[in-house]
Amino acid sequence: MKQIASLSLDLDNQWSYMKTHGDAGWEAFPSYLDKVVPRVLSFLKERDLRITFFIVGQDAALEKNRKAIASIAAAGHEIGNHSFNHEPWLHLYSKQQLVEEFDKTEKAIADVTGGRPVGFRGPGYSLSPTVLEVLGERGYEYDCSTLPTYIAPLARAYYFFKSPQMSDEEREKRKKLFGKLSDGFQSLKPKMITAADRDLVEIPVTTFPVVKTPIHVSYLVYMSTFSRAAALLYWRAALAMCRATGVQPSLLLHPLDFLSGDDAPELRFFPGMDVPIFEKLAFVSDALRMYMDHFEVMTMRQHADDVRNNLTAREPQPQAVL
Ligand SMILES: [Zn+2]
Repeated sequence: MKQIASLSLDLDNQWSYMKTHGDAGWEAFPSYLDKVVPRVLSFLKERDLRITFFIVGQDAALEKNRKAIASIAAAGHEIGNHSFNHEPWLHLYSKQQLVEEFDKTEKAIADVTGGRPVGFRGPGYSLSPTVLEVLGERGYEYDCSTLPTYIAPLARAYYFFKSPQMSDEEREKRKKLFGKLSDGFQSLKPKMITAADRDLVEIPVTTFPVVKTPIHVSYLVYMSTFSRAAALLYWRAALAMCRATGVQPSLLLHPLDFLSGDDAPELRFFPGMDVPIFEKLAFVSDALRMYMDHFEVMTMRQHADDVRNNLTAREPQPQAVL
């Protein structure tokens, strides 16, 4: 029998990339959802996949995005909460700010999709004890905001290097972008945690077992620009290691995995955006085929349910590094 695995897509919009990067013009909330959402939905439908889309509240609140977001829910995919403002410094918010953020996001998502999210992923893998407390109080079932990796400080240095126009104050806010070194010492395995007296399932974004390098699809696409064969070999090895170490992987997609520089010229600076779209989609297709060959792929909520059924909060959880 195949082991289980989950698949999700963080629906980061054009403006949120521009905002994090410090580019002018993001305040008008430029959107590529009408372009990318139909493309992703038909890609998933062809593969009979149901996944989780983490939606940004600000996008759901805008009339221009309603149709695209409603179509995701109508296609049977799970809708998760990806914050309202998509600020990777969410861990610096006060409790009051967080409560307002969650109120607005849940309302905007419910207005468009008719449902309330039970899962959360913080922007830029940002998480704090206060965020967990708010999740518990609001009855969330799972969180998947952590990225166990050792290379976060390197990724951040690269990002700042690519954003020379950023002020010191803006840099300060982005300091924890991509997490911190200690995040690498977290286990890759999901666990039960107690938040505001409720059980919450924590599912980390999977990284390569032991070495903890990223294995999300954007990273694989970036590797494929150097060597397609090497990128697929790396991915195959990562999946084999997950099976060998008993890690149920949780793979992450982004809209940019389905877009090229021609689709979003403002985001040409992102790694992998110079890959022609047909080539990129063929690569993503191969990577997902490999994932589906080895694992039973499901939504984050289904993955969380499975974890909940197999673990209880009272059992001591292994904290050791894999
Ligand atoms: Zn995001």
